[in-house]
Amino acid sequence: MAEQGSVGLVGLGAMGWPMAARLHGAGFIVHGYDVRPGLAQRMADEVGGRAAATLAALGQACDVVITMLPNSAIVEQVLFGDGGLAPAMRRGGLLIEMSSGVPAQTVALGARLAERGLRIIDAPVSGGVKRAVTGELAIMAGGAGSDVDQAEPILRAMGKSILRTGALGSGQAMKALNNLVSAAGFLVGVEAMLIGSKFGLDPAVMVDVLNASSGRNNSTEAKFKQFVLSGSYGSGFALDLMVKDLGIALEVARQTQTAAPLSALCRELWASAAAVLGPGQDHTAITRFSEMLAATRLQPAERAGTGEPG
Ligand code: NAD
Repeated sequence: MAEQGSVGLVGLGAMGWPMAARLHGAGFIVHGYDVRPGLAQRMADEVGGRAAATLAALGQACDVVITMLPNSAIVEQVLFGDGGLAPAMRRGGLLIEMSSGVPAQTVALGARLAERGLRIIDAPVSGGVKRAVTGELAIMAGGAGSDVDQAEPILRAMGKSILRTGALGSGQAMKALNNLVSAAGFLVGVEAMLIGSKFGLDPAVMVDVLNASSGRNNSTEAKFKQFVLSGSYGSGFALDLMVKDLGIALEVARQTQTAAPLSALCRELWASAAAVLGPGQDHTAITRFSEMLAATRLQPAERAGTGEPG
């Protein structure tokens, strides 16, 4: 694969790591940085590329830098905190903010970066760890057309569909709204399985029927058997991150003065689950919260309706 130039990547977590691997595979020299000690070096050893010792070193080495971080507050800290990235980058540099962040905060960051002659686009993703590994993410890109043009070959190494959504921040607004739809679909699917299970339906059969019928969605197809009925709760997307995304969607609703009662209830349920289940949970573990509310467990058909506990 021909060498494509250097790209910085800050945040080598569940998503950043496989994205680094895709970039390396496409011929980019990835300069990785993560606040977790030793992680960037492990990336360099196991994936390829180079470990940046500090954010400033990464900024000096790269004119294009991707951020794949938990939230906008951390992105701001990475860019403008002590020893931050922005002062170290050369004028004309491009930030590709791929975190699921807050649109208004990204626009504000864009203004501060512009004062330093730096540019930014937002390019959050959908598809989870699985599609990050295969390079089939859906990427929603917001920002100046010429900046998105420059980023496109880099985005193509990680994503199958690159969808242009408009001005800076529009990708992140779209991402939050996508996750709102996804979160609601997940929750109602689990409720349907709990009702069906009590009625005597086998949840696995229910998933097969939904997937062959009009009730199917991404959760019925890619989550219920894989991460819920298996009991693994291991999708790689954290419950706390989903709650954050729903908060962003509701913030966009407030900003646009859009009444969104169902969305508000959905966010409340996900936030309550996070409070009850505690930190460190996968988002699919919200099933356990729904089970508590329904005072029943998802169970195979042969045990359903027999009065057995559990
Ligand atoms: P993660 O928690 O697995 O990874 C985040 C990484 O950022 C961690 O390695 C962490 O150490 C690092 N980090 C935190 N603070 C830092 C700092 N100050 N400096 C440098 N590194 C720092 O999260 P993730 O699942 O990879 O998600 C990243 C973003 O992508 C989030 O905004 C999330 O909402 C979004 N997202 C995740 C998924 C998914 O399936 N996991 C899917 C789509 C979008």
